[in-house]
Amino acid sequence: MFKRAEHLTETEQNLSERFRSLAFWTGLLGLVVLSAVVAIFAVSDAFTSASVFEISVYTVVLFAITVSAHRNFHVRPILFCGLLILFSAYWGSTFWEAMRDEVVPFDLPLILFIPLLIVLILDYRLQLALAPIQGGFVYLFVCEFFTLQWGADWSRADHQAFSLMLALVSGCSFLGLGVVSLTRAIADKRLQELMSETKKLASTDSLTRLMNRRAFMDQLRRNWSQQSHVSIAFIDLDHFKPLNDQFGHAVGDEVLQTVARRIQESSMVAAAARLGGDEFAIVLKEESDGQPVEHSIDLLHAKITSDMRWEAGMISIGASIGYARCDTLKQTLTALLKSADTVMRRAKSGRLGWARFNPRIDGAALANAGLELELKAAIKNGQIKAAIQPIADAKTRETVAYELLARWTDSVFDRDPVPSDFIPIAEKLGLLNEMLWVTMDEALAHLDLRQHRLAINVSPAQLIASDFLETLLSVLNRHDVDPTSITIEITEEVAFRNVDRNIAILQEARDLGIEIALDDFGTGYSSLSMLDTLPLDKLKIDQSFVRKSDKSEQSKRILLAAIRLAKQLGLVSCVEGIETQEFAARVAVLGADHIQGYWIGHPELVRDAKSALKLVS
Ligand code: C2E
Ligand code: MG
Ligand code: MG
Repeated sequence: MFKRAEHLTETEQNLSERFRSLAFWTGLLGLVVLSAVVAIFAVSDAFTSASVFEISVYTVVLFAITVSAHRNFHVRPILFCGLLILFSAYWGSTFWEAMRDEVVPFDLPLILFIPLLIVLILDYRLQLALAPIQGGFVYLFVCEFFTLQWGADWSRADHQAFSLMLALVSGCSFLGLGVVSLTRAIADKRLQELMSETKKLASTDSLTRLMNRRAFMDQLRRNWSQQSHVSIAFIDLDHFKPLNDQFGHAVGDEVLQTVARRIQESSMVAAAARLGGDEFAIVLKEESDGQPVEHSIDLLHAKITSDMRWEAGMISIGASIGYARCDTLKQTLTALLKSADTVMRRAKSGRLGWARFNPRIDGAALANAGLELELKAAIKNGQIKAAIQPIADAKTRETVAYELLARWTDSVFDRDPVPSDFIPIAEKLGLLNEMLWVTMDEALAHLDLRQHRLAINVSPAQLIASDFLETLLSVLNRHDVDPTSITIEITEEVAFRNVDRNIAILQEARDLGIEIALDDFGTGYSSLSMLDTLPLDKLKIDQSFVRKSDKSEQSKRILLAAIRLAKQLGLVSCVEGIETQEFAARVAVLGADHIQGYWIGHPELVRDAKSALKLVS
């Protein structure tokens, strides 16, 4: 099962690490001091059976503390118990020596300071508890043994007052130590609380109190390798924006909080987050009470989308859920997230409510999502290359122009995407112009346009960019190329939207000497009136007519009619898709001016086509 984060916080970890190192050095230092004492005893031959016993106890305790700290094994209890044993052993041996009349004046500072050193590292509770005990021991020791030996001139009252004073000094030093430790413990706790509060704030969505995107991703990454399978679901509310606009932000917030609460209440949810806006994500528990996961998702969807009470009425909530499950050994987290996102979009666009990721259905959309992610970088990294295909004179077969086509090379995918894959995506992302300037730059750096024209494909969306013509001219300028060497190929879609604006820009381009060709003529929803409205120089007749003309007499007549139409309108005709010599001869007889197709030449990357071209030296 996906575990909720139960880790020690970073601060707690740091504190416990600090404590461990303190325990280790205390034990080690104690052992060093003890070794020195043993050495002194050995040299002065001062060993007695009592001192051997005492040293043995100290050695065992200090060794246990050092090893436990080194191995990180119950460091705190072992250290505390060890120090309490040291404290007791010290006092035991001190009393034992006193009873045997082995007390010396040097014992006086020892009984005050050695126990203090021992309890220095103890918890404040133990320090406070040991304060009266230490005071009591000091009083007993000084009163009963010490002053009897060396304070013979003093009265009993003097002995008692002196002992009491020493007992108070010693007890108070313990108390003081306890108070300092207590204040430090309080400060540490407050600091810890503050830090974990800050951390919580940074990882929580303030409106719904769910995790935010960053915390969710961190948690997924942390737990990834600990599970064999992970299932996640993306939830996106339907029509949230209109709801927000209609009822106001207070209602919008209430809806988000209600959805968050409903998600959290669901027994199948292991972790939940608000990714932003009206998007939520959940990690599903792997075991679902013996129910198929579809059943749980269905329940969750029903729960989330039940109406919400607001003031006097009810507000209906819509949501689309997409979920995906993966084997963590075979798939990456990124792939799982993409899958869940893709299927959520399918659920949304198909108004399915919820759907499970299906590679057969969602594969293409997933691939497109992959292309979307990669395309921008591909343009930036120079993976989008210029290819050129020759266009020839139908009669002389001499190359009159090259058409510039984009190619995606060295992609991260198993096979490099073809233009029909990435051109629509580049169009959607508004990257077509960027791509055009890159490929034009590459082509113009190699081609000699004094001999040939260069035809560029421009989609209507590219035309309406405010700086289209300006940038085109600056690219031509950079390569010292005249606009009269350029042909803009536009498709019939140019007449669908912003017609007037498109016509104005094409006219402006034409005034600069740029040739305008209507590409793929006959494939779109063209009307003949378009040929009248658009400022055109050339008609490129779609390759489908050539292919069909072989099989049907009707298509052959349409091809002929299209060529004649171009001629009658004063346009240059170009027939696309000429794959054999036979077709080339046929369209030449039909009166076509130009031909283009694999028989004339395949599109070739400019970098590979060097030998076939007249290159600028
Ligand atoms: P298009 O402008 O009609 O380009 C001609 C397409 O027909 C090219 O496909 C070319 O490889 C293919 N072709 C040429 N001769 C033959 C032939 O004899 N037989 C067959 N079966 N096909 C032939 P490609 O390169 O895959 O490009 C497809 C479309 O993508 C192009 O159609 C063009 O509309 C668009 N495109 C390509 N590069 C760009 C670009 O940089 N910008 C824009 N806006 N569109 C581009
Ligand atoms: Mg074209
Ligand atoms: Mg074409």
